[in-house]
Amino acid sequence: MAYNAYITEQRIEGADEGPLAGRTVAVKDNISTAGVRTTCGSAMLEEYVPPYDATVVERLKEAGATIPGKTNMDEFGMGTTTETSSFGPVENPAAEGYVPGGSSGGSAAVVAAGDADMALGSDTGGSVRCPAAFCGVVGIKPTYGLVSRYGLIAYANSLEQIGPIAPTVEAAAELLEVIAGPDDRDATTRDASEALGAGAETAGTGDGDGGYDFVSAADGDVDGMEVGVPTELLDGADDAVVEQFWAAIDDLEAAGASYHEVTLPSLEHAVEAYYVIATSEASSNLARFDGVRYGVSGGYDGDWNEAFARVREEGFGPEVKRRILLGTFALSAGYQDKYYRKAQDARAWVKQDFDEALEAADVLASPTMPVPPLERGESLEDPLQMYLADANTTPVNLANLPAISVPAGETGDGRPVGLQLVGPAFGEQAVIRAGSALA
Ligand code: GLN
Repeated sequence: MAYNAYITEQRIEGADEGPLAGRTVAVKDNISTAGVRTTCGSAMLEEYVPPYDATVVERLKEAGATIPGKTNMDEFGMGTTTETSSFGPVENPAAEGYVPGGSSGGSAAVVAAGDADMALGSDTGGSVRCPAAFCGVVGIKPTYGLVSRYGLIAYANSLEQIGPIAPTVEAAAELLEVIAGPDDRDATTRDASEALGAGAETAGTGDGDGGYDFVSAADGDVDGMEVGVPTELLDGADDAVVEQFWAAIDDLEAAGASYHEVTLPSLEHAVEAYYVIATSEASSNLARFDGVRYGVSGGYDGDWNEAFARVREEGFGPEVKRRILLGTFALSAGYQDKYYRKAQDARAWVKQDFDEALEAADVLASPTMPVPPLERGESLEDPLQMYLADANTTPVNLANLPAISVPAGETGDGRPVGLQLVGPAFGEQAVIRAGSALA
C-alpha cells in the first residue's frame, strides 16, 4: 500500500445518511473497531480484535462515514516520526525521503495523499499536530475532555485526546463536530458550555449528534483578534521554520489581527515534565499486556514471571521498552518525589503560565514543530533529539488546552512547515477561526 500508511485495509460502512455520508475517515490503529483488528502498531497486539467500538467510531458510523482502514502509527503512540511501528515506517507523501511526523503518521499521510477524505489521530504530546505539520495538512488537538477516550488504547491518559486531521480547517472542524461531546463511558468528558459557564460564547451543547458548531467558526474573520507569541517557542527553532512562522503572522496581521510577544518561563521545562509524566502513565497502562489478557501469549511453562517477561521481551519494540523502564524508574520508591512530583509541579506551572498569557490574547501562536520534517532514520539513533522536537506541542497537553496546526508554507527545499495556534480551555472556536484565516 502506498506510503505504508495503513496497517489494515478493511472497510467499515456507516449509516446511509448523516453529515459525513459519502466521506471516508481513516482511523488510527489505537482506536478500537469492533471485529477489525487494532494493533497500536505493536507486535504485541498483531492479532488483537476488539469486541467493541470506541465511542468516536460509533459516532463516525452514525454520521454516515465510511472507515477505509486502520492507519499505521508509532508503537503505542510513542514517537514523533512513525518509524517505531512494528509494521514498518510510513513515508511522507508531501516530502519524499522524510518522515511524516508522528505518532499519527499514517493518518496524516492518507489525508495528504488523498487516499481518505479525513482521518482520526490521537495526541498525547503532539501526535496529531506534528504529522499534520510535516505532511502539510490540518490537525486539531481538542481541549482535554471534549472528546471521549472510551475505546482509545491508553498511552498516557491524563494527556491524550483523539483529534481530526483533514485537508482544510473547515473539514477538520466538521469532523470534530461529529466526535465531540460528553460520553457516559468516559467520566473525564465535559460539556463545553457547562464547563465555560453561563454567558460565555460557546459552540453549543455537545450531545454527539452535531450539537456543537465548530464549522461556522471557520470563517477566517480575525479582525480585531489578539495573538500572543511565546518567545520560548521560537528560541532554538530552525531558521527556515522561523521565517515561515513570521510570514504567517504577517498574513494574520494583514487580515486585521494584532500580535505581541509574551514570555512563558515554565515552557523551558515542559518537555522534561512531559516525558516523566507520559512514561510514568505508560509504565502503568502497558502493564496489562502480560500475555494473559491481551495479545500474544508468552507460553506458560510453569513460571508466570518468565512467561510475563518473555511476552514483553518479544511483543514490545525498543522505544516502548525504554519508556516502560523510564516510567517505572520515575515512579519507584525513593525517586517519586524527585521526578514524578517535580514533573507535576512543572505541569501546574505550565498551566498557570498559559492561563495568564491567554488573559491578554485570544490565541497563542508558534511553529508547530521547531524543525522541518527529519530525514528518515535520523532520530532513531538519538531518542533525545526526537524528544526535544516535541518542545512546542507537549506544553499544550500538559495544560489540557485546544490547539490547531495549519500549513504555513515550506522550507526552501520544499518541506512543509506548520503553524500552531493554542486557545483557552474549550476555546476550539478561537483556534479554528484563527487557523481558517491561513488555510
Ligand atoms: N512524540 C510524543 C511522544 O512520543 C507524542 C506522542 C503522542 O502524542 N502520542 O510521546
